[in-house]
Amino acid sequence: MDIIIIGAGISGISLAYRLSEIKRDNPAIGAVTVIDKGHGAGGCIQTVCDNGFQVESGPNGVLYSKKHVRELYMRAGLENVLQISAPVTKRKYIQSGGQLHAVPSGPISALTSKLLSFPGKMRVLKEPFTPPKTDDSDESIAEFTTRRIGAEAADKLIAAVVGGIYAGDSSKISVKSAFPRMYALEHNYGSLIKGMLNKGNDGKRRERADRKHSGMLISSHTGMQGLVTALAEKCAGVNFRYNTSVEKAEKTDKGYKIYTNNGVLECDRLAVCCNAYDAAGFLNPLDETLAKMLAKVVYAPIFICGMGFSAGNISHPLDGFGYLAAPDEKSVILGTLFSSSVFSGRAPDGKVLITSITVGDRNRELFALGDTELKEMIFAQVKDILGVKTSPESVTVFRHERSIPQYYIGHSAVVEKADELTGRLRTFYMGGNSCRGISVADCIQTSLNIAEKITENV
Ligand SMILES: Cc1cc2nc3c(=O)[nH]c(=O)nc-3n(C[C@H](O)[C@H](O)[C@H](O)COP(=O)(O)OP(=O)(O)OC[C@H]3O[C@@H](n4cnc5c(N)ncnc54)[C@H](O)[C@@H]3O)c2cc1C
Repeated sequence: MDIIIIGAGISGISLAYRLSEIKRDNPAIGAVTVIDKGHGAGGCIQTVCDNGFQVESGPNGVLYSKKHVRELYMRAGLENVLQISAPVTKRKYIQSGGQLHAVPSGPISALTSKLLSFPGKMRVLKEPFTPPKTDDSDESIAEFTTRRIGAEAADKLIAAVVGGIYAGDSSKISVKSAFPRMYALEHNYGSLIKGMLNKGNDGKRRERADRKHSGMLISSHTGMQGLVTALAEKCAGVNFRYNTSVEKAEKTDKGYKIYTNNGVLECDRLAVCCNAYDAAGFLNPLDETLAKMLAKVVYAPIFICGMGFSAGNISHPLDGFGYLAAPDEKSVILGTLFSSSVFSGRAPDGKVLITSITVGDRNRELFALGDTELKEMIFAQVKDILGVKTSPESVTVFRHERSIPQYYIGHSAVVEKADELTGRLRTFYMGGNSCRGISVADCIQTSLNIAEKITENV
């Protein structure tokens, strides 16, 4: 049984790695080939080093609390490659009212925090007594959280987080598709607070290790690119075809014909691990409706700016993960990561690195501005909010016109259609971040599930 994986981002590489493991004990699994139009593994993961400042173009880390992530890297023998974020990472800030507020870490800090007004806090406390929604219709994250915890907390806390994770607009993104666990808390327990307390009491549901590592991230000393490259190198017996762009995927009696700019390949099973808009381009012959739905998935544009300074030139202690800006702020910055506080080795000795993200779905018109204008807007804002005293000595920028898929209300129809095609063909699998979660941990989980499905009954 020959398998082709389209896409060598973290989704394609983790799928290839898991298949290489299964293949060791199962001779029925034939050639595993990963095709990517880029020059190497990583997809949106790319790490750049400028004068000792190490900046990420894509994700900065993977959640260490996810057991499947830890296990995958341990099984691949990458213990020596892994780098774990500093404990200070657990502290996170929100920018509101022109100031940074630490996100409360417990009931006492929640009561004393100035992030929410007194009525705003009281409204959050009323959450367990707020009746759940009875119908199953899809709702935006803003609608859901305003209903549950009130408008103030929904805007200052949740909308800021949606900006940080999705570069998205909480009034457009579906709670069911983007935050399924939050949706399930109301659905299963009638309340978010009751649900969290119940889950917390049930020790069996959450392993101790998961709690211990909550909020911590992993990467490598050479950044996220080092992590994904190391995993790719462990894919024993997998063929990699880089600089190869898939143009068309066609069903045959035996399996699939994959037309690329470097010739035609054939396989029995096909796993698509690339972006929705790319997949839409070659999936038309397999399912026109799915291709059209994928083409309509909206992506947020992002501008990333990594800035290096001498440590004494920033007044803020940078004692945390970074900050997210509540949408009511007049901030063009969605969030700023205190990169050199999160992982060691991101800046030379005596220097610090911060990385700001701007534009996003809420301010997509800003993407038309030039690099210089965007950089100046960012410098002006970090100067105010972090007390930056000089211009940065190193600046690295990245532009992503289509960075992160936005799971708008109704997105579940795309997932159902992809599942329907899998069910009908029984040899086709839709991976990547376009259906079942955008985080690196979600992408890895989706790929592990696909590996099990591909190889069941083989
Ligand atoms: C700026 C940014 C910051 C992020 N931050 C975080 C974070 O901190 N933590 C986190 O968990 N997640 C984060 N994410 C999300 C996460 O990084 C992505 O969802 C994940 O890396 C996507 O991986 P992937 O392999 O599915 O897709 P990609 O990385 O997009 O890889 C898809 C691959 O498919 C290839 N491809 C496309 N079309 C074709 C074709 N026709 N033929 C051949 N190859 C093709 C592409 O070249 C690419 O290599 C971030 C994402 C971005 C963009």
